[in-house]
Amino acid sequence: MKNLWLLLVCLIFFPLFIDAQAQTDRIDEYCGTDFNAKMDARLDRNLNVMRSGFYKRNNAVRYIPITFQLVALDDGTQRYSEIETMNRLCELNAQFSDTDMQFYLADNNGFAYHDNSAWYNGGGFNIMTTITKLPNTINFYVVGEAISPGSGVVVCGFYSQAKDVVVVSEFCYEALNTTAMHELGHFFTLPHTFDGITDAYVCGTTAPAFYEKLDGSNCTSVGDRFCDTGPDYLNIRWTCVGSSGVSGCQHIDANGDAFFPSGRNTMSYSNDQCVNQFSGEQANAMNIDLDNRPDLLTTATIVVDPITVVPVLSEPGDGTTTAFGVLDFRWTPVPNATRYVFQVSTSSSFADADIVVQEFVNAPDITLNNQLDQNTVYHWRVRPFNDANTCAEFTNHFSFATSDFQVGLNEVDGLNSFSLFPNPIVTNQEIGLTIDMEETKEGFLKLFNIQGQLLQSTPLKVTSNQRSYTLDSSDLSNGLYIISLEFKEGTVQEKLIISK
Ligand SMILES: [Zn+2]
Repeated sequence: MKNLWLLLVCLIFFPLFIDAQAQTDRIDEYCGTDFNAKMDARLDRNLNVMRSGFYKRNNAVRYIPITFQLVALDDGTQRYSEIETMNRLCELNAQFSDTDMQFYLADNNGFAYHDNSAWYNGGGFNIMTTITKLPNTINFYVVGEAISPGSGVVVCGFYSQAKDVVVVSEFCYEALNTTAMHELGHFFTLPHTFDGITDAYVCGTTAPAFYEKLDGSNCTSVGDRFCDTGPDYLNIRWTCVGSSGVSGCQHIDANGDAFFPSGRNTMSYSNDQCVNQFSGEQANAMNIDLDNRPDLLTTATIVVDPITVVPVLSEPGDGTTTAFGVLDFRWTPVPNATRYVFQVSTSSSFADADIVVQEFVNAPDITLNNQLDQNTVYHWRVRPFNDANTCAEFTNHFSFATSDFQVGLNEVDGLNSFSLFPNPIVTNQEIGLTIDMEETKEGFLKLFNIQGQLLQSTPLKVTSNQRSYTLDSSDLSNGLYIISLEFKEGTVQEKLIISK
């Protein structure tokens, strides 16, 4: 138990079901969804459509926008990471794979950020959602501790009908947890499989007649009102027996039929390790609910195909030493990737505390401007993804060291432009320089390798009526060089690639 107060609540209300040995994951906390009359009305509508005799689910997969509202403390710490969120989205889409419903990052990014300690600790729910809720997307809040607006108790998560948002606690949003799956089930009007049962069922006793019966005779009117989820009387957290997927608590219905309820269904209160499915009727009901949510039925063009090719890192190369200051990173683009997470870390383990740069970029390259220190060893890697596919892992990393040679693009008064051509140089041709200067200046043209060693220094007089200059490349071996134009008022630099 993470919360002593909650432990006391459980001891008072559920004395027969405390099983300290079996507690893992979401057993600690409950679901805080208040299945109110409006949700019941939506469920009613969905069930009526499903049982009308005319309903047939269109088996085309539909993609639903989701925005992860990541809440941190006031100082910006403790926020659930985007990387872990991407891992969870990958798992969520696998969990929903049989429903023809998949989720994608809304608006190309899918993350929103809030620094508010009160919200992080579960307070201010109404204000938080009023201020931050976004239209045309599922608003999925990840906070430190979700507090149910109804009961005021810390819970794993909840769906609020009034606000139409989902909130989960980060401690119930770890790898392979099923809280998100469960609360999104509520979002699309699914009740708990034990719906309507408020008393604690005593294993092995005969249930009252209004409990769902094993023979299906009352399945459309009691419990969750789905007929393919099976009866379930357990309104407390429980774990399944071994890998069987069923409870060890024998149920006996009003007909005298005995059974052990399945914990496979995500809308039961079984533990994460038991859960792996929605039923077919539940999937139909969720799809019908989605049919009635035009705000989520977007026509946006999104990329959904899996990413199977691993990007190849190129620059800076593994084991190289490079100048610091303005630094270019490049990798090969891969099919279906529309974005990349780029990371630079001071450790090869890429522990959170060691990551000094994390950027989301659209192209397979990024330029860092004075974000790294000199004489330091760094490691970098990328992770490709697209709107609906966040399952690809990070590449292996490249390691490089910065030297004390700084590449910087400084201003020089009167200089309009400075460029090199061709770049890269692929034969022993001359390097062309275009220098557009408003007035005559005398300075030096210098050539450095990327480690910062000076290879050439030539006096250069630049005038306003001459723009083309040349430099011999025949002695230069393949690699990255810096061409530096230095005047007493300042210096400008360009990178040159020799690739013969
Ligand atoms: Zn629930």
